[in-house]
Amino acid sequence: MTHGRDEEMKNKEEKFVRLKPANTDLDGFLGSDQRPLTEIIRADDETVKKTGLTHQAIAERMKFFREAGKNGLGEFVKVAPHFEVSCEIARGLLPCPFGEAGQHRKTIVIVRNLRLRKAITFSDLNIHLISAHGFYEGRGSPFRLEPVDLAQILEIGGSDMPDYN
Ligand SMILES: [Zn+2]
Repeated sequence: MTHGRDEEMKNKEEKFVRLKPANTDLDGFLGSDQRPLTEIIRADDETVKKTGLTHQAIAERMKFFREAGKNGLGEFVKVAPHFEVSCEIARGLLPCPFGEAGQHRKTIVIVRNLRLRKAITFSDLNIHLISAHGFYEGRGSPFRLEPVDLAQILEIGGSDMPDYN
């Protein structure tokens, strides 16, 4: 029964693909997430679309806070109307785990939303991963960002935001 055997091989292969991401550099970004990379990206894409945003709009807002925070040289600076931002740039550069050319600065941005009393931390690499790959990292990864948290805490998509669609 060659058919049954083929079926079995196919199942084994599928299991293997699930266990092993195509690019092992990505392992550290998946955390304890058991879902395949494509599913992580698809699920977040769906969430972002549901909130009426785009990855680009989210990344642009993150860049805005990064630039605003730079003036503080690591200290928190006020950003209207009710934010505080710190932006720390460490030495060295990081490659993108997706493997394309280019390096990313080790910048850590902390944004406090004083109105909501909530804060969120992200890096330059997060901005790149979102803007270029629609990737917010796997659940359990230390730098996992929930698209909904970004939208809420950074107040993306308010009436004063440009329409990106
Ligand atoms: Zn990349």
